[in-house]
Amino acid sequence: MTHYHPDQFLLNDYVAGSLPGAVALPIAVHLEYCAQCREEGAQLSRLGAELFSELDPVPVGDDAFARLLERLDGKGAVPMTPLAPQRPARTRDGLPRALRSLVPTGVEELDWKRISGALRASRLGFGDPRREVALHHIRAGGKVLAHGHAGSEITVVLQGSFSDQDGRYAQGDFLVRGPGDEHRPVAAADSDCLCLAVLDAPIRLGGLLGRLANPFLRIHPR
Ligand SMILES: [Zn+2]
Repeated sequence: MTHYHPDQFLLNDYVAGSLPGAVALPIAVHLEYCAQCREEGAQLSRLGAELFSELDPVPVGDDAFARLLERLDGKGAVPMTPLAPQRPARTRDGLPRALRSLVPTGVEELDWKRISGALRASRLGFGDPRREVALHHIRAGGKVLAHGHAGSEITVVLQGSFSDQDGRYAQGDFLVRGPGDEHRPVAAADSDCLCLAVLDAPIRLGGLLGRLANPFLRIHPR
């Protein structure tokens, strides 16, 4: 059961299809775990359709359809999670379907970089020039260096759990950290923790040591 969800504005923009792919992705992943948000999304979608049907048609440019296809086709396209009440099926290695094309041969086959004793990371090559999309893996009981955020970081827990000063986050939980937030995640002692992380600006590091230890934390979009 998930306890941390995207807020209604984010969910509404997701349903309307107006989010950048790298922001829609973690929401699609959360929806696979969260029946409550699928239901809320379905309601927003019905409401949107009703409002839309009351509008007068607006002419669109000749290239509108071509541009839409380009968006759906190109890199960075996110498979929409069906807003059906039943839980979507997982891929073979237990990952959400929305990550299937980014992790085609399994988590262990990815190119992992060791960031510290407890943390490793793998960039997923999502194709967004302004955001980095990555998997983070924290060893059971491992602590991540305290860090602050200059921009925002969206995290969805895929396996295991971690905690910080504000709470404990388990599978499916969706978190947004904004500018000025500082935290020090610690994985649960009994299992490794795997998260999807989307960063849109460099993380501010606590000290020189952190800077030396964490070249990864300068983000590398795409
Ligand atoms: Zn939810």
